[in-house]
Amino acid sequence: MKTLVFATNNAHKAREVEQILGPGFEIKTLKDIGCLEEIEETEPTLEGNALLKARYVKEKYGYDCFSEDTGLEVEALGGAPGVHTARYAGDAKSPEANIALLLKNLEGASSRRARFRTIIALIYDGQETLLEGICEGRIATEKHGTQGFGYDPVFMPEGFEQTFAELGDEVKNRISHRGIATEKFKEWLLNN
Ligand code: IMP
Repeated sequence: MKTLVFATNNAHKAREVEQILGPGFEIKTLKDIGCLEEIEETEPTLEGNALLKARYVKEKYGYDCFSEDTGLEVEALGGAPGVHTARYAGDAKSPEANIALLLKNLEGASSRRARFRTIIALIYDGQETLLEGICEGRIATEKHGTQGFGYDPVFMPEGFEQTFAELGDEVKNRISHRGIATEKFKEWLLNN
């Protein structure tokens, strides 16, 4: 059993990654290693913020670790909210308020195309590695479904007429941005 520290306190994300990596890996979150402070994401890119979190844990706590940063990039909004996805509607990071603002800003838009992009930053045996996962799709006109988290109730992945919140974990993990990035991560771990 390999133990890996995931620089997150998002239990949903930790569970998704644990499900994808499978039984050979145990994931510890920031809370599990006693890191209770919030790591500020101050960089202008997903790559920068993912690296910043992984380096923080390595430097302060000494663990090899990985982190991930995800952004929702909406075509009609010029790629916004992007790096500001979590705080789109303000510092409260409210999923309901974020979704409401997104739907409002897309009223009357000619395209609802969007993609989720995940960057995983990994610090392992002194090496830093970045891995990317992209899931193309579109934004629904209203919320559907109760599973998942964040923007899941309004994100319909390409090839589906349902949102991630309707499709559930199994389908989501297979096709999602984080699923794709995590599969690359698993491959990397098996080869290193
Ligand atoms: P962060 O990567 O934790 O900074 O997340 C950025 C924002 O994207 C947050 O508002 C999350 O809720 C949202 N987000 C990240 N991954 C997903 C996902 O898989 N589905 C829906 N929303 C997500």
